[in-house]
Amino acid sequence: MSDTKWRVTVDTDLCIGSGGCVLRAPDGFELDAARQSCPRHEVMASSEAVLDAAENCPVEAITIVEEESGRAVFPPEE
Ligand code: SF4
Repeated sequence: MSDTKWRVTVDTDLCIGSGGCVLRAPDGFELDAARQSCPRHEVMASSEAVLDAAENCPVEAITIVEEESGRAVFPPEE
């Protein structure tokens, strides 16, 4: 999985600043001054921790797509 690059975005209209993603994947996310989550990098190496953070975001604000193929990682395609 680690060879794959992911483009990670946070929908700041949805994010409620719970901080869960930062706890689960501190290398992937940080909270800004307004307690909104931001990906630390637009494109990052795929990781279980980042996927875990996306899956457990209470408002599903985190979107992950494969950088090269554009395939949806989370939320998964129906
Ligand atoms: S887990 Fe979701 S709601 Fe909580 S800070 Fe992260 S993106 Fe925002």
